[in-house]
Amino acid sequence: MMTKFIKRLIYYVKTFSLWELFAGLRVTQRSLFKKKVTVQFPEEETPRSPRFRGLHALRRYPNGEERCIACKLCEAVCPALAITIEAEPRLDSEGRGDGTRRTTKYEIDLFKCIYCGFCEEACPVDAIVETNLLHYHFEARGEQIMTKEKLLAIGDRYEDQIANDKVQDAPFR
Ligand code: SF4
Ligand code: SF4
Repeated sequence: MMTKFIKRLIYYVKTFSLWELFAGLRVTQRSLFKKKVTVQFPEEETPRSPRFRGLHALRRYPNGEERCIACKLCEAVCPALAITIEAEPRLDSEGRGDGTRRTTKYEIDLFKCIYCGFCEEACPVDAIVETNLLHYHFEARGEQIMTKEKLLAIGDRYEDQIANDKVQDAPFR
């Protein structure tokens, strides 16, 4: 009976003395003069690991030729089944084949992708890569499907950065 009374008394004392409010303010006070760890994103960014895997890109050789040889290794290795490839023999302007292949369709569904980087690791010609781009969004249904055209456009735009990252990040990959 006595214990119950004491517990009740403590409860009322704490309630009317705003005990919990001051306990919370004590935490605020302790953190007030500590070094800030928050940043004003997106104007400021936290450091990014050299191993960060962001938006995908398809690369070309310096002469403009697509690197991808349609071997489909990336499609086979993708654990999320996010990559879809269709291919055909590569023909020259006179319709003659040289024994190589090209993709007619290369799509990555970014809603399925888990950014594991296996596609990049499997590619024998460094065609598919994951850039360190993370500022992208989708506004309409279906925009998450990265078509070959979109992937090549990203590769064309960021080729210098991709090539540089390949050299810089080599020890981490
Ligand atoms: S990063 Fe991984 S999940 Fe995404 S497309 Fe490449 S292999 Fe598939
Ligand atoms: S991106 Fe690389 S692994 Fe994928 S089909 Fe093309 S050459 Fe093969």
